[in-house]
Amino acid sequence: MYSDEEDEERTLKAAAMLTPQMWQFFDEAQPKKSGGKLRISEKDEDKERKTRTIDGACIFLNRKGHTADGFTGSFGCVLHHLAEKEKIHFVDTKPDVCWQLPLRRSFEVREFGEREISVTVIGEYERLAWGEGGEDFDWYCTSNTEAHVGKEPVYISNKTELQALMGKDAYAVLAKLCDQRIAGIKDAQKRSLPLFVIQHPATIAAGK
Ligand code: SF4
Repeated sequence: MYSDEEDEERTLKAAAMLTPQMWQFFDEAQPKKSGGKLRISEKDEDKERKTRTIDGACIFLNRKGHTADGFTGSFGCVLHHLAEKEKIHFVDTKPDVCWQLPLRRSFEVREFGEREISVTVIGEYERLAWGEGGEDFDWYCTSNTEAHVGKEPVYISNKTELQALMGKDAYAVLAKLCDQRIAGIKDAQKRSLPLFVIQHPATIAAGK
């Protein structure tokens, strides 16, 4: 689902850069009339706009094992492949919901006496956040140990996504706090001091 019109427009712009060599569904996406828009979007059952589904999956998903004359693409999200080819970040080529995962931004309003303060929360996109059906997924990225093998902390590996979600100034504050925390943990380890570090259950399981 697109987050807004701007999100759909950006995805459309990225799709216009795709070639039949890269994209399995290039032909299906071409406009019916010349000069028309690429046919990459549709409405879901709640009338929300989203990327078009072809044969049960997203139009941008190159299927495993697909071959065709002139096709040199590979399995996976062709908008992700485009970002790699153009040496840009996939934040600029994929729909918001696709590049934000496994991060989730939510908005809360808190009351302080007479005042209401708006709070933006950035955290993990857990199964619970999907609502109905979230618990039924066969696998889910942040719940699986396979996703917890990164060598860098998330605030570094997902810097671009976090900056896009919270802005560069807020990210600079976050990075400073995380740097300090990591330095503190290392210092405590060096001096064999007791540590209280909360880890994600899947990170602990991945380390076993
Ligand atoms: S990441 Fe998003 S755009 Fe890419 S194939 Fe998956 S659903 Fe489609």
